[in-house]
Amino acid sequence: MKTLGFKLTLTLTSFFFLLHNFYLSAQEAHTDSILSPIFDTRQALINNSGESPDRFIFLAFWDFDGTILKGDCSEGMRSGDRWIYKGLAQDAIENGYSDIYKGEEGFERFWIDYKNLEQNIGKWLAYPFIPQMLRGANMKEIQELCHVHFETVLKNYYFVSSLYMLKKLEENNIRNYIISASADVFVDASAPTLGLSPNRFHGIEVKIKNDRLSEELNYPVTWSDGKTDKLISIIEDTSRKNPGKQVIALAAFGNSYSTDGPFMKYVAEQLLPSGKAVSVMINGGKVPSEYADIFIQVEQSEIRINEASE
Ligand SMILES: [Mg+2]
Repeated sequence: MKTLGFKLTLTLTSFFFLLHNFYLSAQEAHTDSILSPIFDTRQALINNSGESPDRFIFLAFWDFDGTILKGDCSEGMRSGDRWIYKGLAQDAIENGYSDIYKGEEGFERFWIDYKNLEQNIGKWLAYPFIPQMLRGANMKEIQELCHVHFETVLKNYYFVSSLYMLKKLEENNIRNYIISASADVFVDASAPTLGLSPNRFHGIEVKIKNDRLSEELNYPVTWSDGKTDKLISIIEDTSRKNPGKQVIALAAFGNSYSTDGPFMKYVAEQLLPSGKAVSVMINGGKVPSEYADIFIQVEQSEIRINEASE
């Protein structure tokens, strides 16, 4: 009996310890101070219009890698020389989906070429190259490979604060859209792990021919200014499909001035009939002068798994 009581105490203690840790890591301090001005603006727009809330469609736009996911779903994440997790580019190559990078040294050769493009030529050429080097691969098979990687590995590296804000926005009828410079076929596969429809995900798209990826790009390429173009086309599309409704971007989230700065600035500087849209730079580092005083800056580190226990 005594042993049972002791065991029960132990079990209860670890249960409360886990519960305590769960709530501690549920979100960071900044989330509510970001959400409340977004909700205030939404309410001011509704109140001042004198219309019913369903005359509006509110949107929030998110970058993916480094903003929702700690690290990068295409490239993976490293800590010094050690890989914390493998990226989808490597996963696809190692599973034989690239005709260009085959065999044992396939990924190593890809990485050299990719980094050379990125550093010596430009991200505008490097980022599209990821889906392009998979040309000929069966789209459904790539999707399945990505689903598995998101479910088993990548979803553990989502920032808890981003997950919390995505959920709260959605609960308050603000639709989250993701605009990423990772391949569209990659980011679409994260949809079930975030509880959103794949239609909300927009990455770099190649044309699909006979169920297979091709090297031909669909424009805009969702990197830098291309992200703003995509954002505008999403607003226009939503307006067209919902005649009589007003479609408004209330918030933008990103982690890089060079990649996300343009669309975040576009959202922050809109002139709304009431209130102000909010753009949030997450772990963005030093602010370049052209972006001074436009964004809310926050730091995030908590992810879904405790890294120390890896
Ligand atoms: Mg990013």
